[in-house]
Amino acid sequence: MQRKIVQIPNPILRERSKPILRRDNALKRLMNDMEESNSAARGLGLAAVQIGHPVRLLHYDCAGRKGFMINPEILRLSQDMVKVDEGCLSIKGFFWEIERPSHVTVRWTEFDNTQHEEEFYGVFARLLQHEIDHMAGTLMVDYLSEEQYDGFERVFFGAGLTPPPQENTLTS
Ligand SMILES: [Zn+2]
Repeated sequence: MQRKIVQIPNPILRERSKPILRRDNALKRLMNDMEESNSAARGLGLAAVQIGHPVRLLHYDCAGRKGFMINPEILRLSQDMVKVDEGCLSIKGFFWEIERPSHVTVRWTEFDNTQHEEEFYGVFARLLQHEIDHMAGTLMVDYLSEEQYDGFERVFFGAGLTPPPQENTLTS
């Protein structure tokens, strides 16, 4: 089932995702929902928390590969860094050039419990760092300079997403 993708400032996006302990039908359903939601949003990848489930699961559809990683962990980050324009399905409409390590080694398990370890490069390395960040409650906006962040807030809140008004002070 296609789910709505959670948008900032929903506080669930700041939660730390829990490890997945059971490979059951509920997990299968969540995986299907993630795949449908990501495909509808034309995303490269999605973390489970983005459809409201803070568990360590990500879906990718990137660089000709499609699949899931259960309980992914970053084992190594490269020394060399690269700046790339990045977006997030939970922060719609914003793209920033963000510097991150250019390649990364990740360990994860599959639904059948097999364990894998692989080094990733390019857009895939970027995607995995972004999704694994989601599992720690870290968002792209955390990498912005103060100036960039101020600019973001102005546009974001200027786009009609204003916080609720203060307690009504009418005294009639
Ligand atoms: Zn994201």
